Amino acid sequence: MTDSRDEIRGDTRFEPQAPLSVAARSACPRCGRGHLFKGFLEIAPRCDACGLDFSFADPADGPAFFVMMTTAIPAVAFGLWLELTYDPPIWLHFVLTLPVVLLTCTLPLRFFKGWLVASQYVHRAEEGRLARPAARPAEATGPDGPGPR
Ligand SMILES: [Zn+2]
Repeated sequence: MTDSRDEIRGDTRFEPQAPLSVAARSACPRCGRGHLFKGFLEIAPRCDACGLDFSFADPADGPAFFVMMTTAIPAVAFGLWLELTYDPPIWLHFVLTLPVVLLTCTLPLRFFKGWLVASQYVHRAEEGRLARPAARPAEATGPDGPGPR
């Protein structure tokens, strides 16, 4: 079982997985067989098939953004169309529009989260790190380093 992402990239035991494919199956981005989620949206600590540590996975607000840009706008547009076209009583919006908005905004979250985690894995996206400063030349490190003589 390997945990280091650098070791994982050199591991050829696993076929490369397409992010959209593993997202649609909620599968592990490395092996494509294990489960990515522990609950509906909670990411499991590690893959139950290959042992990949999912601690790198941090899609943050990405899934919510994609839901807002893809499914939330048509769902709200449906409610507006219903109101402007038929002028229904408010209880019809609670019975029809509210479930449409809730379902179209909640169900795709899992797909988008899986897709973003898989994309993080495939493209090695992680927090930036500062580069280490270059080693100083040996003569500059001694107590009598270079300087005016
Ligand atoms: Zn796996």
